[in-house]
Amino acid sequence: MGTLPIVSFVIAIDGPSGSGKSSVSRAVATHFGIGYLDTGAMYRAVTVWCVRTGVDLDDSAAVAQAAREVPLGLGADPAAPTVELDGDDVAAEIRTGAVSALVSRVATNLEVRGILQEAQRGLIEAIGEDWGGVVAEGRDITTVVAPDADVRILLTASEEARLARRSRELHGDADAAALAATRDQVVRRDRDDATVSEFTRAADGVVALDTSDLDFAASVAAVIAIVEAERQ
Ligand code: C5P
Repeated sequence: MGTLPIVSFVIAIDGPSGSGKSSVSRAVATHFGIGYLDTGAMYRAVTVWCVRTGVDLDDSAAVAQAAREVPLGLGADPAAPTVELDGDDVAAEIRTGAVSALVSRVATNLEVRGILQEAQRGLIEAIGEDWGGVVAEGRDITTVVAPDADVRILLTASEEARLARRSRELHGDADAAALAATRDQVVRRDRDDATVSEFTRAADGVVALDTSDLDFAASVAAVIAIVEAERQ
């Protein structure tokens, strides 16, 4: 396990769907022995909560109210992160295709974004205190939620690489049919998400890492090397 020098060390990682950011972020947090915050899980959980409680996703004020009131519990252990709604384990449910198809409608609601971004800042502080640091990942962590993070990284990958990865994850395959079925979950969702966050170009001070030609272990090693270099 690596060691980090200061009381709470914050690593912010952004990237599009299929860039590998969730699995890489968890492995990096495990390596440094710090906590993990998956901000996408928060948008997904609000989406599930709206569906469960009958909130119309077109009613932006009602969706914002749901984001304020959502009984969400997140566990920050990178080896076993948990997501609970009203005490129910929803870790699997929030990742279903049905939720992926709806989540951008919640994430493009600007009032919801303000509420969740504020909650994320509080969580970064609380998890950092508990764990000595945190890897927070999403679409706008390096730019909006934690622009003052100790290390900020944008993971990118070619559309082809991202589609192939997600297709293998979702369908166990990357043949033509599986790729077509995955396209909505990657290309359309990123296009919608990009209307409210910039996660394809690295902002000033953010290190870009292209993982198109890197496997999982090499991606993790590259991020750890960036963290080690940046904290010198
Ligand atoms: O990362 P993941 O695919 O789980 O994110 C789910 C959705 O949550 C994204 O498609 C995007 O709509 C939204 N999101 C966001 N800002 C973040 C993290 C996720 O808008 N920081």
